[in-house]
Amino acid sequence: RLAALARAVTDELRAELRTARNNGDSRHGESEEDAPATRDALLREAKRKLKESAEREGATRLRRVINASGVILHTNLGRAPLGESARRRIAEAAAGYCTLEYDVERGERGRRGARAESLLAELTRAEAALVVNNCAAAALLVLTALARGGEALVSRGELVEIGGDFRVPDVMTQSGTRLVEVGTTNRTRLADYESHLSEHTRLVMRVHPSNYRIVGFTSAPSRQELATFARLAGLPFYEDAGSGALLDFAPYGLTDEPIISQAVADGADVISFSGDKLLGGPQAGLIVGRGELIDRLRRAPLYRALRTDKLTLAALEATLEEYAAGRAFAAIPAVRMISASEDELAARARSFLDALREQGTLGLTGELLAGESAVGGGAAPITRLRTTLIVLNHESLAAPQLLAALRRGDPPVIARVADDRVLLDLRTVAEGEEERQLLAAVVETTRRPPARNLFAAEGQV
Ligand SMILES: *Cc1c(COP(=O)(O)O)cnc(C)c1O
Repeated sequence: RLAALARAVTDELRAELRTARNNGDSRHGESEEDAPATRDALLREAKRKLKESAEREGATRLRRVINASGVILHTNLGRAPLGESARRRIAEAAAGYCTLEYDVERGERGRRGARAESLLAELTRAEAALVVNNCAAAALLVLTALARGGEALVSRGELVEIGGDFRVPDVMTQSGTRLVEVGTTNRTRLADYESHLSEHTRLVMRVHPSNYRIVGFTSAPSRQELATFARLAGLPFYEDAGSGALLDFAPYGLTDEPIISQAVADGADVISFSGDKLLGGPQAGLIVGRGELIDRLRRAPLYRALRTDKLTLAALEATLEEYAAGRAFAAIPAVRMISASEDELAARARSFLDALREQGTLGLTGELLAGESAVGGGAAPITRLRTTLIVLNHESLAAPQLLAALRRGDPPVIARVADDRVLLDLRTVAEGEEERQLLAAVVETTRRPPARNLFAAEGQV
């Protein structure tokens, strides 16, 4: 590894030297005469470059960052940060052997995910539950196990793409199910579903549009109407709910995210949702619904390829236990961040700014600005959560440079830019420890020397 890095560094230096000579750049004209000094300088430079490349390589590993962007379920930053109990349980499951598929009471093989499944069923009042890798896997499993070789009815207004690689029509094709589009983009009636019923129909599907909304002249049958229709037709009714709230977030402005227990009560037979969106747990695809249908999913050969590992299950169990104990608002970071009050965020921003000023940072000033945070993760796209932002101004670094300097911190700080200004939103920064680290990272940007260049650097060549 080191040899390969050294070779790359040597090549890079050689190329830099050649370019400098060829350019006949006056700054480098004297390099021939100063040969010994040059050799020394080159050696020093090679060492520095080697260290830098080794560090850069290390930086590509999966590492913690401080999310000061204000996007709570930031897909690029791992969506929901896990709560303390979930982290503890991951460590416990990882430390040695664990009861992944073992029933300690009876001393025999147990069912993988049994505890998480029973918690899910309890929390959503469904008959049964099943856990797979993510919500995309859940949709693929449901369609494959319940509708393969037949047709599924979906409204044209729900044929959505959720973040690049999840597109409802593509998942449908992949599952071997024929997609039958009903209604129009903005208006679909129950009669549209009825008119497409045939002996090939296997499933009625409803998809939460997640990151997209149709407004204006729109209509769609209610969940109860679709449930009744499917029941009379003798078909399972499947809802892909996406972000899957277990709690009502309406008091915080999230008014049209399906609450899973409500979907169950309204008569959906199978519902899938993500573990790492509004639920605030690890990446997982959660499926709840009627026992007989969940059994069919569990028996499908595809389930074996989509099932979750022990670390995910450990974190999921712990997260669901917080819900069951009524502690979600206190113990689950994503839920806490969504419900953080404007006053609390304003107070935190003020004290952060005070602390920054106390440090007496050279060339860097900050001010407060009323702004908005976002839920992210394809959930509640039009909900705006009011927050107080910290605007950073640097006298010699433009916004993109300051942003890059923050990213070079350890841990890297991810901020956002608007109107050519760097903005920090404390909503997504953990109180206490992380806030102190953020302060240190911001202060550090004013102390770190800018990246050097061999031939521009003074007295080297
Ligand atoms: C987010 C989402 C998915 C994909 O979920 P992942 O857990 O990212 O695989 C599928 N369907 C809907 C409706 C979604 O909102």
